[in-house]
Amino acid sequence: ARASASSAPITDGALADGTPVPLLANLGKPGGAAEAVELGAEGVGLFRTEFLFLSSSQAPTIEQQREAYTELLAAFPGKKVVVRVLDAGADKPLAFLNDAHEENPALGLRGIRALRASEDILREQLTALAQADAATDADLWVMAPMVATVEEADYFVDIARDYGVKTAGVMVEVPSSALLADRILVNSDFASIGTNDLTQYTLAADRLLGSVASFQDPWHPAVLRLIREVGDAGRANRKPVGICGEAAADPLLAVVLVGLGATSLSMAPTALADVRASLLEYSLDDARTIAEAALAANGAASARDAARAAAESRT
Ligand code: PEP
Ligand code: MG
Repeated sequence: ARASASSAPITDGALADGTPVPLLANLGKPGGAAEAVELGAEGVGLFRTEFLFLSSSQAPTIEQQREAYTELLAAFPGKKVVVRVLDAGADKPLAFLNDAHEENPALGLRGIRALRASEDILREQLTALAQADAATDADLWVMAPMVATVEEADYFVDIARDYGVKTAGVMVEVPSSALLADRILVNSDFASIGTNDLTQYTLAADRLLGSVASFQDPWHPAVLRLIREVGDAGRANRKPVGICGEAAADPLLAVVLVGLGATSLSMAPTALADVRASLLEYSLDDARTIAEAALAANGAASARDAARAAAESRT
C-alpha cells in the first residue's frame, strides 16, 4: 500500500513484540531515493555504486562521484545510508579494472580484490564520499564487497577510517567471511550479508546460469547456517548485521533472517510493504522458533515448508 497525503504514515519496521527491525532500501541510482522514501524506506541498506562506472570506459571523476553521492545522502537527512564501494568483476565487469581474461571471473579479481589492485579508484571513491558526507546530514556507512578474509576486512576498514568514514564495515557474501565473522567484527563496525553471492558461493552454482538456477535458493539450510554464524558473531561483538541480498524481500524468509540474528533488512523498495506486514505478525521468540524449523531441514524446499508450518502454528 502506498502512502498518500490522506493515509496514516507508514510505521517503522518492527516485530509483534515491538523489536525494531529497520527496513531499508537497495538502490542503484540516486534518482530512486524519492520513491524509496515514499514506500517507507527508513534509509538505504545498499547503495550500489557501479552505475557510475559501468557507463564509461574510464573511472568517473571525484566531482562526478561527489555529485551523485551528495544527491543520494541529501534525500535521507538524519537517516542511515550504507554505500558499497565499487563491486567490479564477475557479473559486473569493467574494462578498465578487469582487463585480464579469467576462466572463472566469479572466483577472480573482483570486489575488494580488484580495488586493492587499483587502489587509486578506491581512494578517489572514499574522497568523494567524504566530501558528500561533509555536505549533508545523513548517517553515512561505507562497506566493501566480496571480502573473503579477515585481513581484507581490516584493510578496508582501516583505509576507510583514514578518509574519515565513521562507520566502516564489510559485506559477508563469501562463506569464508561468514565462518570468520566473529573475527571480522572485532574491527569492522558492521556486517551486511549479501545473500545473492553467499548462495552462489555456498552452493557452487553461478547465479547467472539458467541450467543451475535451482541451486540459487537462499532458503537452503547451508546458507541459513552461515547466516546464523554471522548473526551470532554480531550479537557476541554487539555489532549490527544487516541483510541486503534478495532474500530479505521474501516476507517469510525475512522473519527467518531476523530469527537468525539479522538486525536490519534491505530490499527493493517495492518489497517493503509486504515484509513490514509479515514482521508484525511474529515476536522475536516466534522468529527464532521459525528459523530453527528451517535450519533443521535438509534442503531449500523443505526448509520453506517447515518455516511455513512453524509460522502457522505461531499465529
Ligand atoms: C548480494 O550478493 O547479495 C548483493 C547484495 O550484492 P550484488 O547482488 O550486487 O552482488
Ligand atoms: Mg554481491
